[in-house]
Amino acid sequence: MRTIMVAGNWKMHGSEAMIRSLLGDIIAGIEGSCPADLVVFPPYPYLSLVQSLARSTRLEWGGQNLNPQASGAHTGEISAAMLQEFGCRYVLTGHSERRALYGENDVDVALRFEAALEAGLEPVLCVGETLEQREAGETQAVVARQLDAVLSRTGIDGFNRAVVAYEPVWAIGTGRTASPGQAQAVHAFIRDKFVNLDGIIGGQLRIVYGGSVNGSNAAELFSQEDIDGGLVGGASLTAEDFLAICRCVT
Ligand code: PEP
Repeated sequence: MRTIMVAGNWKMHGSEAMIRSLLGDIIAGIEGSCPADLVVFPPYPYLSLVQSLARSTRLEWGGQNLNPQASGAHTGEISAAMLQEFGCRYVLTGHSERRALYGENDVDVALRFEAALEAGLEPVLCVGETLEQREAGETQAVVARQLDAVLSRTGIDGFNRAVVAYEPVWAIGTGRTASPGQAQAVHAFIRDKFVNLDGIIGGQLRIVYGGSVNGSNAAELFSQEDIDGGLVGGASLTAEDFLAICRCVT
């Protein structure tokens, strides 16, 4: 019922030459062979390049963030309309690096999520706990708080056309993956929360896992009942690693 999504978050990596080569290899490797929705999130300056290379393929792309305002004096920021001009379908909101390194709080994230929806972009809302929070038994409370901040602005209807990415902060870029059981438990918690608000929206909502996903662990993670794919950082930077994850989707 839910189509698996495999998304590569390239963060602040790449160059024109690297992206031409990476995307060329990914496109050559995936055509027709993987039943998942495949997405990449390049750095902003390369959106135009990605659009020109991927426009007639099944690969889709998105922005790594957006500003809630339509335009104005917001140096260094980017608007929903700008992302749309370069063919973005998706946009990340609330990635833990934005929260931890650039001070985005739950309200900022909710405003960005809402602006994405209003513009017709599909937001990917990233949530997840730190190691300290997990060890203190606060995982569900933290994730619920992050989700509630958005739900209080958009209501459950806001998740009709959105994706949630559960990304435990302690697993991002560390090589330490949540076990399939640990990840599934949080995904089930998230799913239940949405199903209790609206059975149809909650049942259809894609909840992807992020945190050191690779070709060796993706199959087991993606086979969990409430895990609908992956948001992939490090392993999305080489075609071989990204395609190995795509091949785990059957
Ligand atoms: C991410 O940045 O969203 C991520 C999951 O990174 P990594 O796969 O490198 O842990």
